[in-house]
Amino acid sequence: MTRPVFRFAPSPNGFLHLGHALSALLNAARARGEGGALLLRIEDIDATRCRPEFEQAIHEDLAWLGIVWEQLVRRQSEHFDDYRAALATLKAIGLVYPSFESRGEIARLAAGVDPDGAPLYAGQAKALTLAERERRIAAGEPYALRLDMAAAIGLTGRLTWTEAGQGSVAADPAAWGDVVLARKDVPTSYHLSVVVDDALQGVTDVVRGADLYHATSLHRLLQALLGLPAPAYQHHRLVVDDTGKKLSKSTQATALRSLRAQGATSADIRQLIGL
Ligand code: GLU
Repeated sequence: MTRPVFRFAPSPNGFLHLGHALSALLNAARARGEGGALLLRIEDIDATRCRPEFEQAIHEDLAWLGIVWEQLVRRQSEHFDDYRAALATLKAIGLVYPSFESRGEIARLAAGVDPDGAPLYAGQAKALTLAERERRIAAGEPYALRLDMAAAIGLTGRLTWTEAGQGSVAADPAAWGDVVLARKDVPTSYHLSVVVDDALQGVTDVVRGADLYHATSLHRLLQALLGLPAPAYQHHRLVVDDTGKKLSKSTQATALRSLRAQGATSADIRQLIGL
């Protein structure tokens, strides 16, 4: 049996809250129980929102919770070349096209909403001629690079993933439409980098919040297109606030640091999140 590899992959764009504690502790418990490794990955592709003090706090808060992770820690901002290479592979098979619309235009022309509730891009830029694309890029217009979803699904056919407690789940990547693979301001996207990194780091088991359940359809598609192995998935319950809403990094009350400053112990945190 190969040794299972788990990862906790927060973004340093705020302080960790009780929901992160649940995710990190579930990963740590599975790694311990299954004789596996636990990796820490810092998902910091968005330089405008990520800050060194939040990254430092991730290390401190996890250590305080009693979590032990392996070195080295992978910081996504140091690996843009890996994501560019994956993008180049998708380009070479003709699955990537530039789109120039503003956020406002995308919302106005939307063809519905994606599983996150964001406007679903209707694919207008796919119709631009090569000459027009080149002219606009040469003129310095900002653009995102998108996946041609219909063509991608045509290549992979039907896909499934393995979900803990459910078994085989049918993937539905079409629900995401022509997703952004590289943003206007960042040469990659969450979806592309997570898939590349899980493969490069040999992650066998992805344990993360239920808010990313539907993203797994897209992750399976990208894995299939890039020839990457598929980890097994476990999407866990979310920690919610008094009104039933998912916790946010902007709410101080549920931040691990605030709770610690008020005298909470790591045992109290476990109790608060029902572990
Ligand atoms: N970086 C993501 C987050 O903080 C988690 C990504 C993942 O676990 O796949 O929500």
